[in-house]
Amino acid sequence: MITPIVEESRWISTLQSLPLFDPGPGPVAVISPHPDDETLATGGLIAALRLRAAPVLVIAVTDGENAYGQDNPGLRETRRSEQAAALRELGVSGRNLVRLGITDSGVAPQRERLVELLASYISSDYHVLAPWTGDFHPDHEACGWAAEEATKQIGARLSWYFFWTWHRGTPSLLEGMRLANFPLNERLREIKWNALAQHRSQLEHPSGQPILPDNLLAPARRKFEVFAAS
Ligand SMILES: [Zn+2]
Repeated sequence: MITPIVEESRWISTLQSLPLFDPGPGPVAVISPHPDDETLATGGLIAALRLRAAPVLVIAVTDGENAYGQDNPGLRETRRSEQAAALRELGVSGRNLVRLGITDSGVAPQRERLVELLASYISSDYHVLAPWTGDFHPDHEACGWAAEEATKQIGARLSWYFFWTWHRGTPSLLEGMRLANFPLNERLREIKWNALAQHRSQLEHPSGQPILPDNLLAPARRKFEVFAAS
């Protein structure tokens, strides 16, 4: 089990008084390496955008089929339906969910192809949210790299989000980044939590060692979500 190297309370004191994150007026595209990343890192923002009927596209890069190693028949389908259910909680319909079907834990070798795929779904008016290129997981980092290349080509705005950074990184790592936070009121936190509960295969496991034990969920309970300008 991963124990975060920095106490959550220290992250909160570092991050809670950042400038306000403004997603802007255009459509938002969330690039999600694995089903659940979109909910954990950006679920509150997605819910807020959908409550005001702003367009949100979620690009699911992998189906997360290898979360528990490579011998899990049925996990792909399970995670696809969990992600669709989570997105319904957040107000995003299946029409606004794109699945690229790249192999879980195999994004880096496909990153050039990923640039082309991303570029085919976004246009210059999009604000793209992608995992930071330093987010301590090869799939997350490759998605960040591809998002940076694709948005550069297209001329779209790009912001980073974080997940593994909260558990494997330290605040000093983010020094110099243009961080901003998006406050979540009680209603948004409730919607986000209901969405997260849909990712059941990540929260429970017969072995007793789920991918997302309770201590890794602490950042998802914050009263804000953190983004950084690319
Ligand atoms: Zn992930």
